[in-house]
Amino acid sequence: MSQSDPDAIPDAIIVGGGIGGLGAALALARKGLRARVLEQASTFGEVGAGLQIAPNCTRILAEYGLLDEARELGVAPADMIMFDALDASELTRLDLRDLERRYGFPYLVMHRSDLHALLLRGCERAGVELVTDSRVDGLAGDGTGVIRADGGVERADVVIAADGLHSVARASFVGDAPVSSSYVAYRGAMPIEDVRGNDVHEDAVVVYVGPRCHFVQYALRGGSMFNQVAVFESPRAKAGQADWGLPDELDQAFEGACEQVQRGIPLMWRDRFWRMFDRDPIDRWVFGRVALLGDAAHPPLQYLAQGAVMAIEDGWVLAEHAARNRSASGAVDWDAALAAYQAVRPEHCRRVQTTARDWGDLWHLDGPRRDRRNALLRDRDVRDYSFVDWLYGPTALEPGQEPEMFKPIPL
Ligand SMILES: Cc1cc2nc3c(=O)[nH]c(=O)nc-3n(C[C@H](O)[C@H](O)[C@H](O)COP(=O)(O)OP(=O)(O)OC[C@H]3O[C@@H](n4cnc5c(N)ncnc54)[C@H](O)[C@@H]3O)c2cc1C
Repeated sequence: MSQSDPDAIPDAIIVGGGIGGLGAALALARKGLRARVLEQASTFGEVGAGLQIAPNCTRILAEYGLLDEARELGVAPADMIMFDALDASELTRLDLRDLERRYGFPYLVMHRSDLHALLLRGCERAGVELVTDSRVDGLAGDGTGVIRADGGVERADVVIAADGLHSVARASFVGDAPVSSSYVAYRGAMPIEDVRGNDVHEDAVVVYVGPRCHFVQYALRGGSMFNQVAVFESPRAKAGQADWGLPDELDQAFEGACEQVQRGIPLMWRDRFWRMFDRDPIDRWVFGRVALLGDAAHPPLQYLAQGAVMAIEDGWVLAEHAARNRSASGAVDWDAALAAYQAVRPEHCRRVQTTARDWGDLWHLDGPRRDRRNALLRDRDVRDYSFVDWLYGPTALEPGQEPEMFKPIPL
């Protein structure tokens, strides 16, 4: 990877080369701006398995000229189907082909390393400076630079903190803490042949929702791989114990699940797991010339599958406003661009973060409330998009373009 030239001051330093950081760097570079990404790891990469990317993200990938490649690398499933995890009955579905017609762009599922690599190649082509082994430990006192772990200071017109859940910049401006959900995720990606006898749906994104647990399945990489995510509430986390989320709790959590789910559990990776944290929404992301972006700004619980999607939207919005606030000489009025970003993104992402929490609660209901949920979902018209229009439509650039939220139905 390229080494940064300390004498050349870029327009933007981006802290963190995850999906959010690379998306922002690409968006800015496409507008002719010089972006430098500082990544703490020794290589750019992503850990984990599958990722769902909804039309509000594939619309942006199309604008970047990356959608065809994304389609080739991923899968465009025909349906998204929700089943009850106990009795395996179908609760509701989205017709994803009809959804593509409605929003103009597909709902894709991809290996997250494929999406990350796609953005990385885009950054390389666009001339982004990509610097590895470069951990940022703090911000320069005047807010127009960062301090690397080796003590070096790098300056730019603007600093974009895309350094994830444990963001250094967020810590210095906001000082809040991640919120534990007491839920943990196990993942697994395997050759499709390994699951063919398990009554799986190769052409759908499937979620089995059950009391305090759920199980997600979909095919990846042109259908040659299969992705599974098993998520459950940890009794040990609820009891305040430190050793929570271990494989014994995985097995117990799904003991009462239907056969389709039971068959999937032994295939989960057992050597690593992801404890699920989010943060409370904050209404300020811009502090002078420093802007939070991606999980640094709005880490969600994953139930709406919008975390990476929002991060990519953030970068697109920021770059659009940088371009709108650029003079004929090429200088960007960053204060105006950042103010426009601040005006529109926090409210959208607040909605996603809070709805993701509620959506997770709905998935994990037990007893009579589970029965009422199931009845409501079974009654839903499969062409009713009122619950997703606010998410999957075009990304708002101004507050007035933000669509109305859906009206929740009380259980
Ligand atoms: C189980 C699970 C399923 C999910 N499913 C989906 C889904 O289907 N769809 C979806 O859209 N989202 C999904 N998400 C959410 C999504 O993965 C995240 O929201 C997204 O990856 C956040 O990207 P980011 O670049 O903001 O942060 P990160 O991915 O955390 O990247 C931060 C980067 O910054 C680097 N970094 C950190 N600190 C520093 C530092 N001080 N100096 C330099 N570099 C630093 C890190 O090494 C890393 O490369 C899911 C999450 C989970 C846990």
